[in-house]
Amino acid sequence: MSWIVELDYYLKALRDLFFPRKCIVCKESLSVYEHNICLKCYADVPLTYFWRWSGNPAEERMWKRVPIEKGASMFYYRNTDGYSHIVHKIKYEGRRRFGKEVGKIFGEYLGGSGRFADIDAIIPVPLHLIREWKRGYNQAEIISEGIREGISVYSENRLIVVPNLLKRTRYTKTQTRLSGEAKDKNVKNAFSINHAVAARLKAEGINHILVVDDVLTSGSTLEECVSPLLPYFKVSIATLGFVE
Ligand SMILES: [Zn+2]
Repeated sequence: MSWIVELDYYLKALRDLFFPRKCIVCKESLSVYEHNICLKCYADVPLTYFWRWSGNPAEERMWKRVPIEKGASMFYYRNTDGYSHIVHKIKYEGRRRFGKEVGKIFGEYLGGSGRFADIDAIIPVPLHLIREWKRGYNQAEIISEGIREGISVYSENRLIVVPNLLKRTRYTKTQTRLSGEAKDKNVKNAFSINHAVAARLKAEGINHILVVDDVLTSGSTLEECVSPLLPYFKVSIATLGFVE
């Protein structure tokens, strides 16, 4: 067998020679056995550990707006370090498999904490139909699929991802360049709930829902998503990035 292992190594080394792969975070070349993120950057991810405690900054931010159950973000999102590239790769460069892998690791943190083990369904924050059509996918849905796999390791629930419970009814501007107040106005009433789907989920015993987005900034988008769900479900939120 050892010659196969050796051959595999040399083929990969050859591949890297002609098509060098770079670390998403630090842009240095990856070694043969590294994928997407180099070991050093992987060890230094600025994790928030919010999933471990009640009253964490993500929950505090949301509680000022809307009565969610729990909330957590995976890592601090800062424009000054390379970890924000993780979100960019998933959002703008179509790195779906990578997005799912990151989501799965986050899901394992959430599930392993015990605080999110009773989630029944995951709702990705929807894109407007036109934006999703332009992009070809919804990044929040990809992250949700990963989180579902990760939490499932720790949960006895048959977790499902439900992309059609919420709908984005207005084509809003991208949030990133707007001020706090403008952000609130931009997404006001931008989402509607499909009451038939909600009733069906209720009938199936779905009780606790996790709403997933890529980054938590002011919380205005998540607030607009959570509000129409509250008459039906207990709602928690999770995002990959957390802007301080
Ligand atoms: Zn790196």
